[in-house]
Amino acid sequence: MAQPAIKPPQFELAPLPFAEDALAPILSAETLSLHYGKHHRKYVDTANRLLQQNPVRAASLEEVVRAASGKLFNNAAQAWNHDFYWHSLSPSGGRPSGALASQIDKDFGSYERFVDELSARAAGQFGSGWAWLVKHEGRLQVMTTPNAETPMAKGVPCLLTIDVWEHAYYIDYRNQRERYLRELIDNRLNWEFAEENWSRVK
Ligand code: FE
Repeated sequence: MAQPAIKPPQFELAPLPFAEDALAPILSAETLSLHYGKHHRKYVDTANRLLQQNPVRAASLEEVVRAASGKLFNNAAQAWNHDFYWHSLSPSGGRPSGALASQIDKDFGSYERFVDELSARAAGQFGSGWAWLVKHEGRLQVMTTPNAETPMAKGVPCLLTIDVWEHAYYIDYRNQRERYLRELIDNRLNWEFAEENWSRVK
């Protein structure tokens, strides 16, 4: 008997959790318009097109990322990574508090040492990629991944991410990735999102 045809999953570009100008002056509306409206949208559209051509059985974008390879992996993972990145940012910024702040002190020594490690690892990621705060091997760790790769695909719980592809900062900071990182970490990280993620995996 013929297998029923697989209905390919299709994904929407989720709305930004804030207005395009809400992260200014740290990230300009022009950066957000291009980064979200062009780059992120293209990853979602391309993943949908590839899924139409070669349907896979998956109930969520996470499942597609975990099952995919090659071009589909690159586009689906970038769709997921960018959605996670927008949620990792906040117009008001701040610092970790509560249980997560205590865990950062325990695992990194202090918030300042965590920031030093995150900045250095993110700045040192050669070429395009991502820097992450994750729970791995029973503790909080900073992780970096090249290109579209994502700890989520390997089942590593993510708390926060920073996009270090040039398209994330070139309009506002030109080639100064360190300055982008410093401004973003000091002023625009969404620690409430990180705390929610932490409360699910601690
Ligand atoms: Fe990006």
